[in-house]
Amino acid sequence: MAIREVRKQGDPVLTKKAKLVEKFNDPLLEQLVEDMFETMYQAPGVGLAAPQVGISKRVLVADCGEEYGGPYVLINPKIIHSEGTQIGIEGCLSFPNLYGDVERAYKVIVKAQNLKGKWFKIEAEKLLSRCFQHEIDHLDGILFVDKATNLRELSPEEYKKERADKESQLVVS
Ligand SMILES: [Zn+2]
Repeated sequence: MAIREVRKQGDPVLTKKAKLVEKFNDPLLEQLVEDMFETMYQAPGVGLAAPQVGISKRVLVADCGEEYGGPYVLINPKIIHSEGTQIGIEGCLSFPNLYGDVERAYKVIVKAQNLKGKWFKIEAEKLLSRCFQHEIDHLDGILFVDKATNLRELSPEEYKKERADKESQLVVS
């Protein structure tokens, strides 16, 4: 395993549409996923998309903590259902210390492939749903700053506090 460099704001790979993964049971793909987890945990973050480590392929990893299950590896993910809305604070490892408020679906159902190419469906709510939507946007070259309002710089402590406050105000519709 190895920690890879997280590409930052302005890197052209971040605004490119990533390509479908077509080769499965592939040691290079497995290595990429392992490295993405290591990079994400070290940052630390709750999700990471392959373009953020310079690989323009439709791969994401996520781990939003025990209450959300996981960790998750989603390859070629597609949102097949979304429901409700939530407004919450969001940041991105490609934009250190920058945060904004982003409206997302409260719940999504995502269809994706695993490392062996097998399709599965996963239902996600709240933070995990937000995380999947943020990372899938990355695969389409869309960044949270394109959708966020009230962009601001925060320290990690300030962010944690704001997130705790905002989570209690999740809007369900
Ligand atoms: Zn991001």
